[in-house]
Amino acid sequence: MTHAFHFDASLYAAYLRSYAERLGVRRIEGKIVETRLRGEDGFVEAVTLDNGRTIEGDLFIDCSGFRGLLIEQDLETGYEDWTHWLPCDRALAVPSTYDGQPDPFTRSTAHGSGWQWRIPLQHRMGNGLVYSSAHISDDDAAQLLLDNLEGEQLADPRALSFTTGRRLLAWNKNVVALGLASGFVEPLESTSIHLIQAGIARLLALFPDKRFSPIERDEYNQQIQNLFEDVRDFVILHYWANRRTDSDFWKSCAAMELPDSLQRKIDLWRSKARIFRENAELFARTSWVAVMLGQGILPESYDPIADALDEQKVAAALEQMRLANLQAAERLPSHGEFLAEILGHRRRSEPELPEFIF
Ligand SMILES: Cc1cc2nc3c(=O)[nH]c(=O)nc-3n(C[C@H](O)[C@H](O)[C@H](O)COP(=O)(O)OP(=O)(O)OC[C@H]3O[C@@H](n4cnc5c(N)ncnc54)[C@H](O)[C@@H]3O)c2cc1C
Repeated sequence: MTHAFHFDASLYAAYLRSYAERLGVRRIEGKIVETRLRGEDGFVEAVTLDNGRTIEGDLFIDCSGFRGLLIEQDLETGYEDWTHWLPCDRALAVPSTYDGQPDPFTRSTAHGSGWQWRIPLQHRMGNGLVYSSAHISDDDAAQLLLDNLEGEQLADPRALSFTTGRRLLAWNKNVVALGLASGFVEPLESTSIHLIQAGIARLLALFPDKRFSPIERDEYNQQIQNLFEDVRDFVILHYWANRRTDSDFWKSCAAMELPDSLQRKIDLWRSKARIFRENAELFARTSWVAVMLGQGILPESYDPIADALDEQKVAAALEQMRLANLQAAERLPSHGEFLAEILGHRRRSEPELPEFIF
């Protein structure tokens, strides 16, 4: 069964840091204030910290967030803005108390000018509102979020702004941008950390030597572009196909012109319920089908090969699948029981640094 994770992002970052340090990664704390570029080709040679220390390198990985310290400010790589397809550009995040049984899923609720997330963790609820600043003021957005909290508010809302889109080249010269420095698809499908991981995996698979061949670089950039665009199309589908008509925001989403790649997917589905997983895209056929059907996009016909199948055999196969799923679900503990078991196990053994916990 496929699954995803709910993490406390700050704890996860601290965990990854200590994990990496234990494996021998050396961490140098400091703010980068200057970059030295090589005269002949503009490759990054060194960065200087605010304490005056200079750090030289062959390959630089830019994880500096939206601003893209090296990839954009120094190398001026360029950014493709997708706001016309995904108009939300701000978010507010706030934790709240929580004492029920945790759901094993994120709940996303549409509002007039965006949507709200609700993510149960072991010890608190993560909440947030993602919205379009062209359609609702920051104050009204904060009020909307706080009015819709289930538990008690634990902190002031934290504000974030972003421009959905992607860096034109995730790898430029000897700089590889990862994370928000490489682009951002708004968090409706919680895809950023997956894209970071996918970027790391591809960088390892195409790791350069000091000559930095354009062959590996171009392949990396193409693969990352495909990943970003596939995620983008899947998220756009939610906005475009949503049938709300009660606000200017939703009306403008329904009226948008879709990217060709998404239009082609919708046409194939509408024609005969066909979906193909392309490239190495994150979302499987079942995810696309769930959103298409869930948002009321119905196929006009079906694959003619289906007429060659024996209906009784198909019905029997479906029944077998239903029973297998039912039996598996009955055997499994609830999400709350599962978490309690893991936590109990960890408390009993108390390792200094827990091995990766689900
Ligand atoms: C509203 C919102 C919701 C999200 N929800 C999800 C989700 O559900 N699932 C998911 O997978 N992802 C989600 N993400 C994305 C996720 O938060 C990011 O992918 C993750 O934080 C990684 O970010 P990053 O390291 O690229 O950038 P950041 O977390 O922004 O880190 C950048 C770092 O660079 C440092 N820096 C900047 N300039 C300098 C300098 N000059 N010198 C030294 N250091 C510098 C900063 O101090 C900072 O520590 C969400 C993001 C947003 C905005």
